[in-house]
Amino acid sequence: MSVPRTVAIVGGGVAGIAAAVRAAEAGWRVELIETRTKLGGRATSFDDVRSGVELDNCQHVVMGCCTNILDLYDRLGVLGEIDWHETLWFARGAGAADALSIAPLLPAPTHYGPSFLRMRLFSWSEKVAIARAFLAILRMGGRGCLRWKGRTFGEFLAEMRQPARVVEIFWDPVVLSACNLPSATCEAAHALKVFDDGMLAHRFAGAVGVSRVPLGRLYGRVEELIRASGGALRLRTSARALAFDGRRITGVVCDDGIVAAQAVIAAVPPDRLAKLCSDTLRAQDRRLARLESFSFSPILGVHLAFRRRVMSRANLALPGRATHWLFAHEAGGTANFVQRIEAVVSAADAWVGLSEEETTRRVLADMSWALGVSVDELARDLVWSRPVLEKRATFASAPGVDTFRPRAAVEAGDLKGGVANLFLAGEWTDTGWPSTMEGAARSGYAAAAACTGQGGMVADLPRALLVRMLGR
Ligand SMILES: Cc1cc2nc3c(=O)[nH]c(=O)nc-3n(C[C@H](O)[C@H](O)[C@H](O)COP(=O)(O)OP(=O)(O)OC[C@H]3O[C@@H](n4cnc5c(N)ncnc54)[C@H](O)[C@@H]3O)c2cc1C
Repeated sequence: MSVPRTVAIVGGGVAGIAAAVRAAEAGWRVELIETRTKLGGRATSFDDVRSGVELDNCQHVVMGCCTNILDLYDRLGVLGEIDWHETLWFARGAGAADALSIAPLLPAPTHYGPSFLRMRLFSWSEKVAIARAFLAILRMGGRGCLRWKGRTFGEFLAEMRQPARVVEIFWDPVVLSACNLPSATCEAAHALKVFDDGMLAHRFAGAVGVSRVPLGRLYGRVEELIRASGGALRLRTSARALAFDGRRITGVVCDDGIVAAQAVIAAVPPDRLAKLCSDTLRAQDRRLARLESFSFSPILGVHLAFRRRVMSRANLALPGRATHWLFAHEAGGTANFVQRIEAVVSAADAWVGLSEEETTRRVLADMSWALGVSVDELARDLVWSRPVLEKRATFASAPGVDTFRPRAAVEAGDLKGGVANLFLAGEWTDTGWPSTMEGAARSGYAAAAACTGQGGMVADLPRALLVRMLGR
């Protein structure tokens, strides 16, 4: 019987988990090295000692178009833990809100049409402007959108003559939540992808999925799959360096010894990867040349527990406000609160350095505007509040970022391009996606496929017939 080959995977975030699951399935022995006590990286949960509740780092959502992360959830047996919402709510203030819903019988791209036409947030001329931009996106198709690479989405919106109010209350709330930058500074190709793949291409593409269990619990099966491969999940283990013999990677130097491997998948953020590579290694692999070129953008999540139900809708966008989204979670069991709201502020630079009290005060002011309940009343019903600010939440989807996102593997035949048995994963690698769990899952699948020669990414949702006919 042949001895399975070993792959050491550094980083137990979504990218490392995706790579581990697929490499194990391909018959490789997997050693997964993760410095923290829990899997999931940025997409995980923690035990909040103050409230006694397991909280997510921040509300994470998936969309119907995220075929690879959904495939990963399926392989982990947790797809059923995702609650799907086919309506997104846009607040108009004083408790009023407009629904943007997937109509039951209409094919893409007409499926949002009826609810969009009913929205009172926009005037008729604003609706015509938005429809004109959507039609242009449809006509360009996926490939046409790529031609906007290197420019800002703001430039695209200006070319589409979008009124400033429409940018502020429609395009920005969506772009901020998906790309973590406003339209004015966001890479156009990334934002266009969100609207093309994420709203127009397929009826289900824009459905929003929210985990009903804390994120950390989605990864419960990972250890079992790794053990079945003959390998080990090494939590609380920090990689210190990639062992390089001048030609190949021979393993990973950890704080408790060396993990020898025939191949290594590095699934850590670019700044961490830079610390693991010697100058000699970086000089020999041109994928490692631009690790310092990335910049990052913060996200603030504020968990607020209330002793009564303050929000009747599952989600609510707050167009034009500093707080961008609210998500409602009903408390279960013995909790001393009835409803927990997760407030999300994307591109949260202006909130860095604020005290917890001030952060909570500002979020309550926005909630008061959206829900039509006074700040005093909300404050009275608030049991606790827990802001969580992630300063390096995502890489910044700035124009041109795709030019330095490296591929998972050295290209075939490019013998001088890099080290053949080093594979790169992480949402920041060359996936074409903004910084998302879908990008991370894609990168892990791509790295595992390049390493093992088996598997690969899952196909996108098929583009609807009418969408294909409208695209050039
Ligand atoms: C607040 C917030 C909200 C977000 N919201 C969404 C959302 O709604 N939808 C969405 O799709 N995406 C969202 N994202 C983005 C998403 O979480 C990330 O894109 C994705 O999780 C990145 O996964 P990754 O595996 O590439 O990286 P990471 O999650 O960063 O994983 C890297 C792992 O490597 C480990 N590591 C680092 N150095 C070492 C070392 N030396 N040795 C061993 N281990 C090491 C880290 O501990 C970490 O676990 C959000 C992110 C944040 C922070």
